[in-house]
Amino acid sequence: LIRVENLGKSFGAIHVLSGINVDIHAGDVVFVVGPSGSGKSTFLRCLNLLEEPTEGHVFFEGVDITDKHTDIDKHRQKMGMVFQQFNLFPHMDIMKNLTIAPMKLQGKSQQEAEAEAMRLLERVGLADRAHAYPSQLSGGQKQRIAIVRALCMKPDVMLFDEPTSALDPEMVGEVLEVMRDLAKEKMTMVVVTHEMGFAREVATRVMFMDGGNFVEEAPPQEFFTNPKNERLQSFLSKVL
Ligand code: ATP
Ligand code: MG
Repeated sequence: LIRVENLGKSFGAIHVLSGINVDIHAGDVVFVVGPSGSGKSTFLRCLNLLEEPTEGHVFFEGVDITDKHTDIDKHRQKMGMVFQQFNLFPHMDIMKNLTIAPMKLQGKSQQEAEAEAMRLLERVGLADRAHAYPSQLSGGQKQRIAIVRALCMKPDVMLFDEPTSALDPEMVGEVLEVMRDLAKEKMTMVVVTHEMGFAREVATRVMFMDGGNFVEEAPPQEFFTNPKNERLQSFLSKVL
């Protein structure tokens, strides 16, 4: 579904990522963990070209989206992204937040877009908040809405960048539950997180990023119980 070839990203003289090769297949639930500043967010943002790679290629569904001639907006619609800071439109109610992109970008009728939004809101238990504004919701509710907003576009992959790290602890569970359901439904997901227990539970693969590259990758059981790389061993000893 996504193929990353020799990906590199520099900001001026600072090399953040280099020589990354990864294949993400349909149905993969890939967790990316690693120390702060190692390049996890930059990697995720390169997958949908929120950051423009300075080297290498990203293929999405067979199309080289790093090619200057590719219409990135068209392909990016199929990649849902959820950030640490929800990024909802504050001046629009929830229903409007959820329907604006499907209507504007996918040409859906208001009726169609609202029906789909309502169906997804029901799934995350927030149907009664359809006409609230983001400021009237808790952090956990806002993040569930942000996930629903991405799902309204019927994405083929969902990218999550630390979706629970801005939340009060008691709200983390409700967001993880929505993500767990998505994984069960075989949504392809790439998740940057510090929630190691959750990674262990739902990941199909866990990748350790350190110093701008992936230095170890394994199924969760092996990753957490039998890490081979020394830096991963030391990282896990601090976070587990
Ligand atoms: P965290 O766990 O703290 O979120 P991270 O692994 O997501 O860290 P990145 O945000 O990808 O790390 O950052 C990797 C490195 O790239 C950092 O040293 C950061 O300072 C640098 N960096 C990121 N964005 C920019 C930018 N726009 N300009 C310059 N440097 C940047
Ligand atoms: Mg980050």
